[in-house]
Amino acid sequence: MKFIGVAGSPGVGIGKAVIFEPPKLDWDGVVYSGIEGEKARLGEAIAKFKADVTELANFALEKRGKEHSDILKRQISLVRDPFFLQQINDLIDGGKVAEGAVNEAAEACAEIYRSTGDERIMERITDVMDAKTRLLSLLLNVETLDLSSLPKDSVLIGRDIPASAIASLDLENLAALVPESGGYTSHGAIMARSFGVPLVTGLSGLFETVSKGDTIIADGSEGVVITSPDEATLAAYASKRQSYLDDQKSLNEFKRRPTLDADGNPRRLLANIGGINDAKAAKANGAEGVGLFRTEFLFLDRATLPSEEEQFRVYSEVSAIFAPGEVIVRTLDAGGDKNVPALKLPKEDNPFLGYRAIRYCLAEPAVFATQLRAILRAGAKDKNLRIMLPFVTSADEITQAKALVAACADELRAKGLDFDENVKLGIMVETPAAVLLAEELIKIADFFSVGTNDLTQYTLAADRGNAKVAQLCSPFHPAVLQSLKKVIAAGKSAGKPVGLCGESGADPEMIPLLLALGLDEFSVSPASVLRVRREISHWGLQRAKELTQGALAQTTTEAVKAHIREALKLSQ
Ligand code: PEP
Ligand code: MG
Repeated sequence: MKFIGVAGSPGVGIGKAVIFEPPKLDWDGVVYSGIEGEKARLGEAIAKFKADVTELANFALEKRGKEHSDILKRQISLVRDPFFLQQINDLIDGGKVAEGAVNEAAEACAEIYRSTGDERIMERITDVMDAKTRLLSLLLNVETLDLSSLPKDSVLIGRDIPASAIASLDLENLAALVPESGGYTSHGAIMARSFGVPLVTGLSGLFETVSKGDTIIADGSEGVVITSPDEATLAAYASKRQSYLDDQKSLNEFKRRPTLDADGNPRRLLANIGGINDAKAAKANGAEGVGLFRTEFLFLDRATLPSEEEQFRVYSEVSAIFAPGEVIVRTLDAGGDKNVPALKLPKEDNPFLGYRAIRYCLAEPAVFATQLRAILRAGAKDKNLRIMLPFVTSADEITQAKALVAACADELRAKGLDFDENVKLGIMVETPAAVLLAEELIKIADFFSVGTNDLTQYTLAADRGNAKVAQLCSPFHPAVLQSLKKVIAAGKSAGKPVGLCGESGADPEMIPLLLALGLDEFSVSPASVLRVRREISHWGLQRAKELTQGALAQTTTEAVKAHIREALKLSQ
């Protein structure tokens, strides 16, 4: 059977299903054995917990690194926490069995974390819940799957596979991860990408149909899972797996190489990130900096907005990861397809053309200024942060934002706080208005970054998320190509850099056009960095220019693509 989901981490895994199921924890039938009896059971369970988790943490430290062993160490700190232990003991004193007491104390602790609204503290809730499950399993003598020693070629399938479980996985024997629930940016998918393990997620109906030991193919590049495949399918995917592995090996060569075209001309190759984990993955993959930090990720899935301090910490950490490499921090791009519940934006009939991004920020200067101050301060040390405004349609939006930056700088100066006095401020070019005004806007912006995802949808009036118009929404449409040509030329004649941070920057068929048009900076997802570096290295300027001249002469998307494909075929 074939299941289609989300491609969470590339590569193909083939192996036998290992089912990850949370243990069944039911203590209804447990009889209260008195204060002494319950505390003795608790003490034994805690001692075993500490021994087991210490062993797992040592394993994780040796095989995966500190970050992963820290996830487990946090669980040990919790069961050592005098406040947490006191609560459990009080509940036992009050007549609760040890299981009920552990459950209630853990839930109360999670509730305290939740009520802070602080994302960093709320992340600890997963640790508390994992620790609770482990302690209850020990108290109830329920077997848990030993993830640190899996059978060879295991495909781990679960409704949900928590981060702490992934941290302690036996990667040598793991072929793929298949958590039914999750998305590309879920914690599990981020970790799988950093381990290089294929992961497919966002599936439905798989968990009910699969049994332990079934043969599974998980294609993390396409987002496909096949259960009990026939011989021919198995052979086809085995060969796809081998080609992927061979290709990965050859890509590793590009990790420490500069980004040069075939003539030896340098280009900057940066990454698009949504937070610290992405920043680390991008750095590990050889990104030279960040061309787009989608800061709205810091504002999602929470009831309150992140404070200046919280934002300052995150921006400082990303700055330190890449310094002296540049980090372009896009200011809050909320609204449209990016729903940020904490902003309580009014419901609109047409949110893509509504109150969003820079429009919202200028109308809510307190929210905007909090973010600007955090960026200014975080850039104080390495001076490598840049500010980028999303969804600009006119010069006065830039002027107003600059005035607010200046006011924030005055405020910080008056408080005697360090900040970057000379921070550069650029804009995303992602509306037709910005393209038409490019020559004017570049006079007051320090740089451009073309957002082809939005520029394509607004130029062609075709929703980027609507599968029915996906054919229309192509960055190879002649109108989008003419826009790219115009914007890059405007940057060049003003002597200011132009980058591109839409998904099309990683498309091998678009790369020669961007090189020929003179793009200075490519910004792509962390997983695409090495592929783009390799692709750039294949292109000499003369050949790229010939191809581009032909492509720009076409009048339909289909003709542009056919022209590029023909040229690529001839040059192979
Ligand atoms: C874009 O619009 O091309 C872009 C990079 O921004 P986002 O995808 O976050 O809208
Ligand atoms: Mg955009």
